[in-house]
Amino acid sequence: MNTNQRDSAEKENDKSTRKVQVEKKVLSRNDEVAQSNYEWLSRHGTIALNFISSPGTGKTLLLEKTLSALAGEIECAVLVGDQQSDNDARRLADKGARVQQIETGSSCHLDAERVSKFLHQVVFDTTRLLFIENVGNLICPAAYRLGEKYRVTLLSVPEGEDKPVKYPPVFARADIIILTKVDLVEVLEFDMQACLNNIKSINPTAKVLQLSAKTGVGMDQWLGCLREIAAVNRAAT
Ligand code: MG
Ligand code: ZN
Repeated sequence: MNTNQRDSAEKENDKSTRKVQVEKKVLSRNDEVAQSNYEWLSRHGTIALNFISSPGTGKTLLLEKTLSALAGEIECAVLVGDQQSDNDARRLADKGARVQQIETGSSCHLDAERVSKFLHQVVFDTTRLLFIENVGNLICPAAYRLGEKYRVTLLSVPEGEDKPVKYPPVFARADIIILTKVDLVEVLEFDMQACLNNIKSINPTAKVLQLSAKTGVGMDQWLGCLREIAAVNRAAT
C-alpha cells in the first residue's frame, strides 16, 4: 500500500467509524423517545403492539379482522405506517377503532419520534390496545423501538420457511411471531416443521401462532392472546 492508498483507506475507516457513531446516536435518541412513548401510553392504561413484516404478509387484513372481532369489547386504536397513501387506514376505518395513517415519505420505517406526534390523536384513557402497523420491511424496523410492550413479527407462508434465518434480528427481537396465510400450506408444499425449527433456532422463547385471517383458522388463539394482554393491563391500572 502506498501513502496515498493508506491515506484514503484511513479516510474510509474514519468515515465508517463516524457513520457507526451517528447511527448509534440516532438509535439511542430513538430509545429515549420510545421509552417516553411507553410511559405516556402506560399512564393512559394502553399497551402498544408493533407489527413488523415484509410487504404483503397480511398485516392490514389481520388488523381488519382483529378490530371487527374486538369491537365493543376492548377499545383499540391503530397507527398505520406506509411510505405513501392512506389505503390501509381507509381499510381499517369503520371497524370500531380510532385509526391514523402515518406517511413516512422517504423513510422505510417508523421511528419513535414520528409515532410520538400521532399518539394523542388516537389514544385516550379508555384505549386499552394500540396496534402500530409498521412500514412493510423486515430490516430497519427491527432496530427502532416505538414505545411498544410487544413486538409482533409476521411471516406469511408464501415467503418460505427460511425467512427467519435470512433476517434474524427482526425474528430474534419478537415477542410474538405470527405465521400468516396458513391456508396456503398445502398448495405451496410449505414445510411447517422446518419453519418452526428455523424460528426456534433464532428465537426459542417467542410465542408462535399460526393463522389465516382469510379462513379464520387460528384467529381464536390470537384474539385470546390479545384478551389476556388487555386484561393484565386492566388489572394493572
Ligand atoms: Mg398494510
Ligand atoms: Zn428504514
